[in-house]
Amino acid sequence: MDIQALDKEYIANTYGRFPLTIARGKGSLVWDEAGGRYIDLGTGIAVSSFGISDDSWADAVCAQVRTLTHTSNLYYTAPDVLLAKELCSRTGLKKVFFSNSGAEANECAIKVARKYSADKYGPGRHQIITLTGSFHGRTVTTLAATGQDSFHKDFLPPTEGFLYGQPKRESVEAPLQRGDVAAVLFEPVQGEGGVLPLEREFVSWLAQAAAEKDVLLLADEVQTGNGRSGALYAYMHYGILPDAVSTAKGLAGGLPLGATMLGEKLQNVLKPGDHGSTFGGNPVCCAGALNVLSRIDDSLLQEVREKSQWLVETLSAAKGIKSVSGLGLMLGLETEKPAREVIDQCMAKGVLVISAKQKVRLLPALNIPWELLKEAVQVLTEVCAE
Ligand SMILES: *Cc1c(COP(=O)(O)O)cnc(C)c1O
Repeated sequence: MDIQALDKEYIANTYGRFPLTIARGKGSLVWDEAGGRYIDLGTGIAVSSFGISDDSWADAVCAQVRTLTHTSNLYYTAPDVLLAKELCSRTGLKKVFFSNSGAEANECAIKVARKYSADKYGPGRHQIITLTGSFHGRTVTTLAATGQDSFHKDFLPPTEGFLYGQPKRESVEAPLQRGDVAAVLFEPVQGEGGVLPLEREFVSWLAQAAAEKDVLLLADEVQTGNGRSGALYAYMHYGILPDAVSTAKGLAGGLPLGATMLGEKLQNVLKPGDHGSTFGGNPVCCAGALNVLSRIDDSLLQEVREKSQWLVETLSAAKGIKSVSGLGLMLGLETEKPAREVIDQCMAKGVLVISAKQKVRLLPALNIPWELLKEAVQVLTEVCAE
């Protein structure tokens, strides 16, 4: 069967896929249909936290599949409750709403922020500031939240109520003073925007300035969350505690799960009927996430930071690489060759990397074995130097 031809015939034409059909995977390795082997430094865009079809994760997920799959949120089940308890005890946030994707996790944060403001201040104080270069999802509202015009143009009109500022104090200070702003939504490290960590001084100032105005701080940790940055959540690097944190991608290690964690101010804003999701908090996805979180401990995070440091040092010194940005195992490389050429040449040599804007993006599994990481970096640096 020619899968790529069938894909072109039957799958909606929304993806510019690479000409590679992946047949199976194990950890940080995948194989194509002909048996060709590739080292995976993309993890399905920061999703397969412990690699693909990881044994311990698969055991946890399969055991749950055989015990209880889906019940809807009309009944109590254990996995979502245990997962929410774990998330709260490890972050200091108070309650969790589960959904199925990053966009939905952000939608919930936006809804909660608007309701908090409306409950407390009445209608009209509903603006949400987001940052230029950000990416918050593909639904009509999270597209409006996304601070990049190229995403908006074909889908007008956008959802009202978003203001855009550059990630610097001069740009956000005036909108914060307007009096009609409910929240600021930001990614601690802009992922799709080019793997750009926000500056520490900016985030500290923002957290304080927002708190003074009772403007909510909403962290979009869809990509940076769940150990990716070298901390459990990237906001932890900045010494702040947001009012809400949304996450998804790596949370369930390869299954669709979104979570919106709500802090002190927001924990009781939503009432029965205000929000919901048929699949959200599904026991199978939550069992996957419980396995992932149980393995993101201090020693794993230490390993993430060590691998990150080694990658930054090695790649910064490599010929053909102009700069390295990012945090933890979420890195962006500015290369002399166009990113697409680097990606294609790496693929031809058995290494999968992806892009972010004009950069080559690396998002390896949190537990990628050193030998595979070194083998992949050898190929990557050769390709960049040629
Ligand atoms: C991927 C991503 C999203 C959207 O997540 P989906 O699961 O594709 O809806 C939102 N925000 C950030 C920061 C992301 O990286």
